[in-house]
Amino acid sequence: MSEPGPHRQLIDRKAFTVFWQKRNNPKELWKFAPVYLAGIACFLPATSFLNDHPLFVVIWFTLFFAYLLGMPFLWNRLLYGKADPRFLKCPVCGRSLGPISQIVIATGTCGHCGSHILVDHDYGEKEDLNGPEDKEAQ
Ligand SMILES: [Zn+2]
Repeated sequence: MSEPGPHRQLIDRKAFTVFWQKRNNPKELWKFAPVYLAGIACFLPATSFLNDHPLFVVIWFTLFFAYLLGMPFLWNRLLYGKADPRFLKCPVCGRSLGPISQIVIATGTCGHCGSHILVDHDYGEKEDLNGPEDKEAQ
């Protein structure tokens, strides 16, 4: 939505790493999956009515897809609060960083446009989470 401006906004590497490690944590998926699947299961009994009313079919699909797409969003929102939009989208090219968050963390650059988007702030401590491939950009 926001135009990538002429000056680049760099993202703090530590904050970005913590943000995505929390979201990519497999333990969180194990909590999420049963709730999500149980919700989907609630829609299934209603499919036996689908032949009765064309209108019902429309309503059912609307609700079902609203759930499929909206539930993960709501879950994230409840668990983590509002996300910093810079963590979700590249501040330079504006494309989604979610699917490539591990690449961004490893290389410090956006996997789409190649721009350097992570910056280490001076905390006086070393980031040890990503192993030795920090300098292997591209
Ligand atoms: Zn980019």
